[in-house]
Amino acid sequence: MRFGVFCSGGDSPGMNACVRAVVRSAVSLGHEVVGIRRGYQGLLDEDFFLNENHQPRMHLRSVSDIVHRGGTILHSARCPEFRQVAGQQKGAEVLRKHGIEGLVAIGGDGTLRGAIDLQKFWDGRVIGCPGTIDNDLFGTDYTIGFKTAVSTAVELVDKIRDTAESHERMFLVEVMGRHSGYIALHTALATGAEIVCLPETVTDIHALLKQIHLMRARGKSSILCIVAEGDELGNAFQIQQKLEAAQCPISSRVVVLGHTQRGGSPVPDDRILASLLGDFAVRSILAGKTGYLAGRINRHLTLTPFAEATAAHRQVPEELMKLLEDLTR
Ligand code: ADP
Repeated sequence: MRFGVFCSGGDSPGMNACVRAVVRSAVSLGHEVVGIRRGYQGLLDEDFFLNENHQPRMHLRSVSDIVHRGGTILHSARCPEFRQVAGQQKGAEVLRKHGIEGLVAIGGDGTLRGAIDLQKFWDGRVIGCPGTIDNDLFGTDYTIGFKTAVSTAVELVDKIRDTAESHERMFLVEVMGRHSGYIALHTALATGAEIVCLPETVTDIHALLKQIHLMRARGKSSILCIVAEGDELGNAFQIQQKLEAAQCPISSRVVVLGHTQRGGSPVPDDRILASLLGDFAVRSILAGKTGYLAGRINRHLTLTPFAEATAAHRQVPEELMKLLEDLTR
């Protein structure tokens, strides 16, 4: 069988390890792999990874020395054209033209939604691998890249705590998460941050101020507030403005961690998860499966229909919210 593999949407550390697993698994089972560059855009443009003989095939050696690298050798992109029916039809035609019968799509919820649409016009088999730092998909305990993103954020926030403490300041640190508070909550718990603002919970300026006054009265000299970029009250700068307008009793600074969270060498857990899921995606396609997200739940490899995996953003666990509250008194 000829497989296609691509990375799409926001990149995440571990995508390379997943591409490697797809290629090594398929090729060693006697199949061919076409690497599609730049996600759905590259599919429409027939932009394929060329091997040393300038052929659009990935070999065992095409993926040497990438398991530890951040980013993706296939590149990633967003593709507005693929949101239109004409783009989806064209994508299906390109797959047929190149004899691709099995497709592994590595990306987040948008990428999986694209795969649902592609299936309307293409009768090959497609399996998704959860390549996103957001950890917001149903059908897997962790997404590929989440643990690395948290590890990067924690390392940076630890440094910020030092200066916050020296200057007795509050820092509002903005982390990624347009719809999901997973990175923010895990970072807050791991750094001992006092406050966390998440899209999943209501952020009330007056309640925050009350909490800050109470912490000051209890002798806290520095305060760390981790803000998910998609908090419903606004980003870290907007929340800082609202606090200042309400006479916040401690001077504050904002740090936006931004794309640092997407880069860097993946932590071992992400490399292993990516390897397991890339291999599982290939084996699932060979077993006749299509339209599923490959995931890992309680150490079991699982397949979840795309529609279920993307139905809503997975909510942060309540027990972790409660723990943060209990430990930041
Ligand atoms: P992620 O996969 O990280 O969530 P995006 O939401 O940007 O990233 O989605 C990646 C790409 O998937 C988009 O640029 C688009 O090409 C495609 N896509 C997203 N949503 C849809 C949709 N509803 N229908 C068709 N294609 C989509």
